[in-house]
Amino acid sequence: MRVLVISDIHANLAALEAVLAEAGSYDAVWCLGDLVGYGPDPNGCVSRVRGMPGLICLLGNHDAAALGQIEVEAFNMEARQSVRWTRANLSAESLAFMRDLPEQVVSGEVTLSHGSPRNPVWEYILDLRVARNNFEFFDTPYCFVGHTHLPVMYQSSDGLGGVRLLVPETSKSVTLQPRTIINPGSVGQPRDRDPRAAFAIFDPELKIWEYHRVAYDVGRVQKAILEAGLPARHALRLSEGW
Ligand code: ZN
Repeated sequence: MRVLVISDIHANLAALEAVLAEAGSYDAVWCLGDLVGYGPDPNGCVSRVRGMPGLICLLGNHDAAALGQIEVEAFNMEARQSVRWTRANLSAESLAFMRDLPEQVVSGEVTLSHGSPRNPVWEYILDLRVARNNFEFFDTPYCFVGHTHLPVMYQSSDGLGGVRLLVPETSKSVTLQPRTIINPGSVGQPRDRDPRAAFAIFDPELKIWEYHRVAYDVGRVQKAILEAGLPARHALRLSEGW
């Protein structure tokens, strides 16, 4: 079985289409949240994702904000502008789909959360200390998270609280060790200085994980962001990958 694992699409349909073209065949899609926010094509992304096979799709903080479940004040100035724009531009159909999204799902041996198992919508796992503190909040061998837009793994190495950070190579298969928190990176707004869209393929039977990156037409999306009146910074950062 091949599961396409994606996260943080952020209304970037060009990046999502590139990922789908590159991914080959897959039996299921696990999308770890933030369908919308920052990018110019929220409805296009929602309708593309909702039709995917075997879909599990989580609620991210930007999705919750677009639904009015989180106040805009919780975001920085430019992200607020993007939340307001997204609220004004989401169709009734998109909103209806997003309203039903769960915050956390357990699928077989994997716990899926947008941010962290401890605080699924909001917490960023950005360092070893936060990663270490999160291991007691899930019982499955693996936990997949998004939210930071960084493709990394945190592996509990000795069962005694030791945690290692791993940044595996792209396009190389890795057999996952039990008790690992894994982030596939971001489709629509990578922040690891590589502007290419990130995704992963996971085989739940063999526990094999592969990171992938694919280039897409960043210029076209930057133009659409500016034309929509969204903050220029959200266009600029796409070509820098931060
Ligand atoms: Zn995000």
